[in-house]
Amino acid sequence: MREPDGNDEAAVDGARPSRPPSIDALARSLAGSGLPHPLLVDAAREAVDAGDPGSARDRAEARARRLLQPVVNATGVLLHTNLGRAPLAVETPGGYSNLELDLATGERGSRHAHAGALLARAAGAEEAVVVNNGAAAVLLALAAVARDRDVVVSRGELVEIGGGFRVPEVMATSGCRLVEVGTTNRTRLADVRAAVEAPGADVAALLKVHQSNYRIVGFTGSVAVAELATLGPPVVVDLGSGLLDEACPWLPGGPPPWLTGEPGVRQTLDAGADLVVFSGDKLLGGPQAGVIAGRADLVAACARHPLARALRPGGLVLGALQGVALAYLRRTAGELPFWRMATTPVVELRDRAERLVVAVAERVGAAVPELQVVDCASLTGGGTLPEVEVPSAGLALPGDRRAALRAWAPPVVARVGEGLTICDLRTVAPADDDVLADALAHALGP
Ligand SMILES: *Cc1c(COP(=O)(O)O)cnc(C)c1O
Repeated sequence: MREPDGNDEAAVDGARPSRPPSIDALARSLAGSGLPHPLLVDAAREAVDAGDPGSARDRAEARARRLLQPVVNATGVLLHTNLGRAPLAVETPGGYSNLELDLATGERGSRHAHAGALLARAAGAEEAVVVNNGAAAVLLALAAVARDRDVVVSRGELVEIGGGFRVPEVMATSGCRLVEVGTTNRTRLADVRAAVEAPGADVAALLKVHQSNYRIVGFTGSVAVAELATLGPPVVVDLGSGLLDEACPWLPGGPPPWLTGEPGVRQTLDAGADLVVFSGDKLLGGPQAGVIAGRADLVAACARHPLARALRPGGLVLGALQGVALAYLRRTAGELPFWRMATTPVVELRDRAERLVVAVAERVGAAVPELQVVDCASLTGGGTLPEVEVPSAGLALPGDRRAALRAWAPPVVARVGEGLTICDLRTVAPADDDVLADALAHALGP
């Protein structure tokens, strides 16, 4: 049991406090942890209630570790939902902004005039509106376009994306009527047409949901956006991942092979979609947000809907997203942390891994034969590109050392597989290599 520093009231005599320690004095003795006093009082009270005042410092440290904080992502999952999906550096000026002020007229402006308008321009859409996340964007699009009316969707697309996003439930919540057509593995244009032309049908939209995190393989068939667009009702596509353009004009080498087959926002609009809905923090590489892009009248209906007010993001997110949209328009989006990490050549990662082995040996003061440079496979993650592996390289150490790596400050999050702990360097910023070396030396140390 550790004795609280400089606190005579909380004197601990073996396992039994000689007299009840003052919670406040015990809390004060923990001030070095950097937590505000009320949280230290909580830690002190819990420790005393548990009959173990000496545990107060550990409890305070555990509380501090539950704060939102930067971590080193060594999992190799580029868009790790538990780690905040796309990494993004944002500078946030502390002052006011023209969030809803038109500087030309001095009148009230629209918060959709910045990031939304720029993303629309970058994707080739007439207009776009931004909300808090992809799920909110789907909800708003359906509520605005199809409330109390029919929305036709293939049975193969009535899916759960993860984190409680289930297409039938989101549709029900939006107030539209779900009309499911086709079968789980095959849906034909004739199935959709029959639903549109059915007596009494009141079809407001045809919904297509991208197979973000699953694949149906074998005897399959689905209806392309271009075919749906021939039927008349507006086509709403929940694209999810938000690849802005399949040609990736922001990458000098064009699209990497692992992106093959992933539909782009621009191409989906060109194929005839009236609205395309996607997340800001998946393949777009931006902050958590949801974007509805497409026909001006439908986007305006979304922006006017009462739910838009409830789902609107604040200036921090819109400012960050504006920076991302400008990067796409400048064709410098390859510099966004997500794209930089996703496209780093494996040889560079292997070089860094070799330098890290040397750096860890220096810290440990001896060679560390158990630390090995390995080829591995990264994932895009975040419910995008299931089963697609991005070749990568990293470091492997025997056994499961994840807890030791997480205990480092800043925490390092690694993965295990086949009896090894793997630190995949694709998702580690080169600037964090020193931190990783420190954490590895600690995990390997005596
Ligand atoms: C990810 C995803 C969503 C949900 O988006 P969030 O930004 O996570 O709310 C909805 N639909 C599809 C197809 C997705 O891939």
